Amino acid sequence: MVEFVGLFIDGTWAESDSGAVGQVINPATAEHVADVAHAGIADLERAVAAAARGFDLWRKTPAVERSATIRRAAALLRERQDEISRKLTAEQGKPLAEAWTEVTVSADLLDWFADDGRRVYGKILPPRVAGGEQRVMKEPVGPVAAFTPWNFPLSQAVRKLGPALAAGCSVVVKPPENTPCSVAGLIRCFADAGLPAGVVNVVFGIPAQISEFLIPHPVIRKVSFTGSVPVGKHLAAMAGQYMKPATMELGGHSPTIIFGDADLDKTMQILAASKFRNAGQVCVSPTRFLVQQNVYSDFVSEFTKRAEAVRVGNGADEGTMMGPLVSAARQKAVSDLVSDAVAQGAALRTGGERIGNVGSFYAPTVLADVTPAMRIMNEEPFGPVALFAPFADEAAVLREANRLPYGLAAYVFTENAGHMDRVAAGLETGMVTINHIGLAVPEAHFGGVRDSGYGSEGGSEAIEAYLKPKFVTRTAYV
Ligand code: NAD
Repeated sequence: MVEFVGLFIDGTWAESDSGAVGQVINPATAEHVADVAHAGIADLERAVAAAARGFDLWRKTPAVERSATIRRAAALLRERQDEISRKLTAEQGKPLAEAWTEVTVSADLLDWFADDGRRVYGKILPPRVAGGEQRVMKEPVGPVAAFTPWNFPLSQAVRKLGPALAAGCSVVVKPPENTPCSVAGLIRCFADAGLPAGVVNVVFGIPAQISEFLIPHPVIRKVSFTGSVPVGKHLAAMAGQYMKPATMELGGHSPTIIFGDADLDKTMQILAASKFRNAGQVCVSPTRFLVQQNVYSDFVSEFTKRAEAVRVGNGADEGTMMGPLVSAARQKAVSDLVSDAVAQGAALRTGGERIGNVGSFYAPTVLADVTPAMRIMNEEPFGPVALFAPFADEAAVLREANRLPYGLAAYVFTENAGHMDRVAAGLETGMVTINHIGLAVPEAHFGGVRDSGYGSEGGSEAIEAYLKPKFVTRTAYV
């Protein structure tokens, strides 16, 4: 059955005014699984007006009540885990076990943000004048325009909705048009948890048209985007033009540094599993595998064997380790980058081709001896491709790691404490993980630097993006 995902405005799901829809295609089977309503200007006007009313109500709702509502939504998400995971796999392609994990992570994140909303403390200052009172309060920044991506449709939406709602903001969110069903499931959890009408509004449509309407709109006071660097720069510039604060979670090209003194068996196990998660469509995916010269050749050979053992198939089937890429367009983009690298002399150890002729499957791929001249060493592959290059010493590997303007995540594998300290200090990234893949926990900052964006979507830092300080000073008349 083909699902219909409407717009959610002022607490009601509905078609768009014009009745325009887009199709959602299962990337494993090429089947038409859903239609999604496409908003026009009149719909967007209604969404913004609802968000203005929603903000007025929600900001005055006590923080403990806001927190309880978000926690109820998290509980409903857990109750509906099976149904939502299946939808996620059908629209996005990831194996069911990964979809299941994404629901778990999303519920955990919601619990964290719900609790953090109860810890928004201001400050009382020692007054400069006798009998006076001086305080700095933190208020919700206002209605938010949020743009969320298709690679983790649930958890990336939660990283914006959670802190925004906990802080007392209302939201107009534009989730991805190609993976709308799982997000719609999340929004139903909020509605059924008692979130008042207008506090969250969901619109789909032509992305550029929606951002060009929402970002300049005077009701909108904050912009948050997760997606590619070029789109992020464009939206950040627009936000700047209208003097709106912005959070930008953009792409990465994570250096993954493997020293000869690392526990190579464990490192292999961790990285082979992590590289092909979500078919490599992960902003923090390990990408540039920089391996110390003395262990390079053996490491590449063993990694190639692991890549060849990855069982690729429909994410809904038991035993599938990696699903398809999200779309034919992504498959072509990955394929073009791999072809360019091979044409320029990279050694294709395995993969490098589409699998089958239905769906957008791409083989787990290992490219060795890549060089900075190749496009793939400069542009985010966002696919199941591991790039290998050898390095001589710490100074050389840090130069390569910091060569690109990206600065999201980096991984280091070593048993040498000196390497750990110096490399962690020298890496220009927002996150560094040593000897494991431990990013994206609710309690920790999540975000990049340089072209990977700014702001944070995790830890106690996340809620700050949805608050603004206000200084209130009072004195007794003398
Ligand atoms: P993209 O930037 O075009 O799209 C990403 C998301 O942004 C989509 O959901 C899309 O609907 C939305 N979007 C695109 N243009 C927009 C606009 N003008 N206004 C508002 N929203 C807009 O990227 P893509 O081609 O779909 O995906 C490939 C690239 O996206 C990858 O190479 C990767 O760099 C990046 N990406 C990053 C993340 C992340 O977690 N940081 C997530 C998804 C995609």
